[in-house]
Amino acid sequence: MVKCAVCNAEFENDRKLHAHLKAHKLRMVEYYQKYYPRYDKYDGKIIKFKNKKQYFETEFNSRTNLRMWLKNSPIEEAKQYCKDILQKRKQEKELTYAPTQVELRTLIFPPIQYYNEIFGDYYALCRKLGFKTKHNILLYLYSSNSISLPSHISKCSRSNASEHAIDSSNSPSPSSAASPSSSI
Ligand SMILES: [Zn+2]
Repeated sequence: MVKCAVCNAEFENDRKLHAHLKAHKLRMVEYYQKYYPRYDKYDGKIIKFKNKKQYFETEFNSRTNLRMWLKNSPIEEAKQYCKDILQKRKQEKELTYAPTQVELRTLIFPPIQYYNEIFGDYYALCRKLGFKTKHNILLYLYSSNSISLPSHISKCSRSNASEHAIDSSNSPSPSSAASPSSSI
């Protein structure tokens, strides 16, 4: 059962609730943003509403805001956040395998390079969180520089990495052994 936050009427499912919103002259976006406001962690603006699922899963309205928030947060807070979103994603979706770079991008999660910078190794972190990573062995080897990519690809991934690189000059060094710039 879902409850209408305006009048407390109960409905079997979201579809029926959403149809009922007309009675309050509310569009879905207005209803959720008014009664369940969620704000971008970086700039405090209301999360843009595309659908209910997206709305409640979104922490940042853009990759830029995610990047700026990470850059301006203490390293421990950034690490906690990066770990939590993976863990939460795993639980909610009952995921077996670690999210790929493409999935991270779609979800507005930090890129693998950033995980490597702050944790030392994205896939090792994922294994600690209970993900399987064997299907990502090739990506793992790429990301740990154990094998080299064709020059045009590695050039491209290097520029991505620096695009997402976090300036850690104002932050304490991460407690992991890896230095923040070792992966780029
Ligand atoms: Zn109502």
